[in-house]
Amino acid sequence: MFVLIITDVVDIDRFVANARVVSLSRRAPAASTTQAAASAASSSSPGLDLVLDETIMHPQGGGQPSDVGFIQWDAQPERRFTVVDVRADKGAAAVVHHYGSFGSQDLDDAALATASAGAPVTIHVDESKRRLHARLHSAGHLLDSAVRNLGHTGLVPSKGYHFPDGPNVEYLGELEQTVRDGLPAALNIELQRLIATGGDVQVKYVPTSTLEGGGSGHSLAAPSAVPAQETSEPLRYDSPDAVRMVNIGGVECPCGGTHVKSIGDLQNVKVTKVKRAKGTLKVYYEVSPM
Ligand SMILES: [Zn+2]
Repeated sequence: MFVLIITDVVDIDRFVANARVVSLSRRAPAASTTQAAASAASSSSPGLDLVLDETIMHPQGGGQPSDVGFIQWDAQPERRFTVVDVRADKGAAAVVHHYGSFGSQDLDDAALATASAGAPVTIHVDESKRRLHARLHSAGHLLDSAVRNLGHTGLVPSKGYHFPDGPNVEYLGELEQTVRDGLPAALNIELQRLIATGGDVQVKYVPTSTLEGGGSGHSLAAPSAVPAQETSEPLRYDSPDAVRMVNIGGVECPCGGTHVKSIGDLQNVKVTKVKRAKGTLKVYYEVSPM
C-alpha cells in the first residue's frame, strides 16, 4: 500500500513545493474510506481527486480548515488544478486527497489517464488563507492557556472549530453564572497579557510509547501524559511512533495543525461571547485582521 508522508507541515512559511502525481480520478463519494472524505466529496461539484507522492498542503483536521491553492503540471503550465479541499485518510496509509478541478478546461477520461502518469507538478499554497487559518487555530491554543491561567481547571477543552465563520472552543464543564458572565472580559485581559508577553510557539515530538493515550487534534493532554523527556531527534508528526506536542502560552497538547511562529504574531485575540449548553461552555473568539 502506498504510504504518503506529509512533508513540512510544520513549516508555515513553505508555500511552493515539487511533487509527482500518483493518481488523478473523478471523485467517488461512495468509495471514500472516511466519512469526512465522503462528505467533502458530496459537498461540492464537479470534482476530481488528485493524490501526489508528497504534499505540503495541510488536510482539514482538528477543527482547522484545509489549505487551498493550485497544482500546476511542470511540462504543461496551462494544466492548472484548483484545490478547494484537502483530506487525509485515517490509518497507517496516510493518503492525502486534493479535491478540486481544472475549471473550464476539464479533462476527458483519456486525458485524465495521461495526466496521472507520474507527472512532475508544482504545489502552490494560498498564502493568505494558510496564514489566516494558522492564526485562527493558534488563537484556540492561546485561549486554552488563558482559561487555565484564570484558574478554571474544571473546564476541559473538548472540541475546536477554527474556521473563519464563528471560531470557538468547546469546554466540558460549567461555571457559576456570575463567573460565566464575567468570563469574556476576564479572558480578554489574560489574552492581551499573554500576547504582550510573547514568546515562541513550542513544538516537539514525543514517542507515542511515553504518552497515555496519545492522539492528535485540538485536545488537552492530561498533565500525566506529558513526559519528562522528549526525543532529541524530531520525528515526522504523522509517524505512528511519535506525537507532535504544541505549547502556546503554557498549555501543551498533541496537535497536527498549522501554527504561527510567535505568540506576538497573533496581535489581538478577542473573546466575543460564551454560550452554555448541556455541561459545556462554548467560547467564541475572533482574531484581528492582518
Ligand atoms: Zn494546534
